[in-house]
Amino acid sequence: MKARRSSCGGSGLLIGLDVGGTKTDVVLADEGGAIIHAVRFPTPTGSGTQVAKGVVAGIRRVLQKGGAELADVRAVGIGIPGQVEAGTVRRAVNLGIEDFPLAEYVEERVGNQAAVIVENDVYAAALGAHEMLSRQAPVEHMVYLGIGTGIAAGVVLGKELYRGAHGMAGEIGHVVVEPDGEPCNCGARGCLETVASGPAITRQARKAVASGRVTALREAEPLNAQAVFRAAREGDGVAREIIDRGAYYLAQAVQWLLLCYDVEKIVLGGGLAYEGRALIQPLYRHLRAWYGESKLADLLLDETRLIARTTEPRLGVWGAVVLAQRYLCRERGDATIR
Ligand SMILES: [Zn+2]
Repeated sequence: MKARRSSCGGSGLLIGLDVGGTKTDVVLADEGGAIIHAVRFPTPTGSGTQVAKGVVAGIRRVLQKGGAELADVRAVGIGIPGQVEAGTVRRAVNLGIEDFPLAEYVEERVGNQAAVIVENDVYAAALGAHEMLSRQAPVEHMVYLGIGTGIAAGVVLGKELYRGAHGMAGEIGHVVVEPDGEPCNCGARGCLETVASGPAITRQARKAVASGRVTALREAEPLNAQAVFRAAREGDGVAREIIDRGAYYLAQAVQWLLLCYDVEKIVLGGGLAYEGRALIQPLYRHLRAWYGESKLADLLLDETRLIARTTEPRLGVWGAVVLAQRYLCRERGDATIR
């Protein structure tokens, strides 16, 4: 997990946290972004204070594990699944947070000389993905598309995160694609998330089993998205149908992103990205059917533009380190961003 040494790197330390719905990852890194130690623990949820206490405890644990002192930490980056504005978590439904000043809380307890930067977790993962790609060749514009429990994109334009007016840019999981479809957590019906996320695939598999269709999914234990992909690989017709339907809607998301932003790369992350080719192949089958004869085929059918992130490290926690790193660079007046 080595990153190139940043041009504004000093000799201090950085901490990155990826606060997930169930687990929190914390890493201690040097200012060049090289990971020194990592810890993972269950996320305490229920209120902003609970989550914040967990963050502070995680910071202390990783420092202890690395035999390092708080005084050596220059910046802390935190990725959290929610809407974030200027260090305040406006809303993080799965963690039970509403309007909580997370950056301020953590800074008061561990700040001293370290700045605390809080960002939406998908945005942080987008920075991690940008860092990953940039190790091979410079990338100006890219999108990270997280497909797991939910679906959301993080957009990097001109090497900078594009957040939009309210820190909502990239929330394409809530584009309505089936107006009469299933209810979504956001209150609307038929959002992209309700047809192509991990839980959506699981729900369709359960429906197929309950309706008495002949499928190997009847024996799947547990019956989840991974089981559906496995059955599809083994030739199960019902499983293939379910994956194909999800891929149909994800192909729509990919065409919106490519045509809206004309990015060089789209990195797929989240639980479903681990399926790799099994997800990408049906997705391109749809894109080829739509654009095969189009003058836009060059833009939309170039398979090198879409990368499924199938291996560790987790981009979220890496991106949290990049958040801290970039903050320091700016503070020191060095605008160099890889
Ligand atoms: Zn929705």
